[in-house]
Amino acid sequence: MIVRAIVTDAPRGGVKLDSMDMDFHDFPVVLKPVLTGICGTDRGIVNGSLPFAYNPHGENRLILGHESLSVVVSAEPNSYNIKAGDMVVPMVRRPGKCLNCLVGRSDNCSDGQKHEAGVTGLHGFMRDRFGDFPEYLIKVPGNRKDDMAVLTEPVKNVEKVFEVLDIISRRSIFTDSAGAYHGKRAVIIGTGSEAFLFALKSMDWGFSTGITNRHPLDEIKGKLAEDTGMDFYDYSHAGIRENNGIDLLIDTSGDPGTVLRFIGRMNNNGIVVLFGTNGKAQPAPVDGDLLGSIVEKNLSIIGSVDGARIHYERAIQDIYKWKAQFGKTIEMIITGRVGPEDTGIFLKKPADEIKTVISWGE
Ligand code: NAP
Repeated sequence: MIVRAIVTDAPRGGVKLDSMDMDFHDFPVVLKPVLTGICGTDRGIVNGSLPFAYNPHGENRLILGHESLSVVVSAEPNSYNIKAGDMVVPMVRRPGKCLNCLVGRSDNCSDGQKHEAGVTGLHGFMRDRFGDFPEYLIKVPGNRKDDMAVLTEPVKNVEKVFEVLDIISRRSIFTDSAGAYHGKRAVIIGTGSEAFLFALKSMDWGFSTGITNRHPLDEIKGKLAEDTGMDFYDYSHAGIRENNGIDLLIDTSGDPGTVLRFIGRMNNNGIVVLFGTNGKAQPAPVDGDLLGSIVEKNLSIIGSVDGARIHYERAIQDIYKWKAQFGKTIEMIITGRVGPEDTGIFLKKPADEIKTVISWGE
């Protein structure tokens, strides 16, 4: 069938809405996206700043889209009980042949042979129809037709980071004197969608949680931060206001200079999670003093990418928990809705954007 698809040429970039003839006979499940989310990675691919992105083998284009809430159009009988009409979230990564991939943890792929829909070597979900396999589809509990489920993919990244944090933190006593995290400080660099989602999870754990950027927050983000209980400051104006030090630092900016400045404020046994990526960021020198303090403070610096099926499942649970906890406030995360033809959205991020979604219509 002829489908519309939003395509790029990875890693060079560019974006357009194209029409192409696609056949789904090789797939037991055929799906139609309801909403697809746009994230920093999509814009990084489109502007050519993510050298790790590539087209499917032998092709000169890549269909974008790795965040999707979709409806099943048709399904062959399967043991996952995926059937026509189900609301599902498709997983992004598809396994290669390494041991981690073989045990269902392609998020920890050891040889780089995995693929990621809409990012590395596999077409994504920004098209009128796509085919898939039931084992890569996460059912929305209760088959809820709720737009918030489109956040499952970005939240699953957060779930993985907190799982890794739990493991790493056991190398010392990381809690406060009450065995909890209320006396501990988490700072998230950046104020995009992932930053807000990290901050929500950090508050669930009990950390005193702040988000920070090099400019003030617009009204919507300011209200979301205030109503959910996270603090914000503009570090370029106010300086780094962390007099009691930072225990958990999560970077979503991908900016080395900023990360290094904040690392200088870490407490002993602190944990730094590098999550943001920006191949075009300015380099930043590391001097011997900073390197020495990382050692002397016993810091852990970890990179984290993607998440596994279990993280998608936890993500959906957390999204509905936050909805119950914060009501309509949490819906403020979806700040814009556009159609597939509005490809300019990939080129310029709206100033007040947290998450823009593409609506694929009925
Ligand atoms: P996003 O909306 O572009 O968020 C990036 C945030 O970082 C923005 O708020 C941006 O601020 C801020 N920022 C940039 N430079 C900064 C600086 N020097 N100081 C403070 N803040 C700065 O993207 P996202 O969708 O939330 O994703 C966040 C990052 O994670 C992106 O780099 C994305 O590619 C990456 N990512 C990683 C994974 C993974 O598995 N590791 C998965 C998904 C995404 P302004 O735009 O307001 O200036």
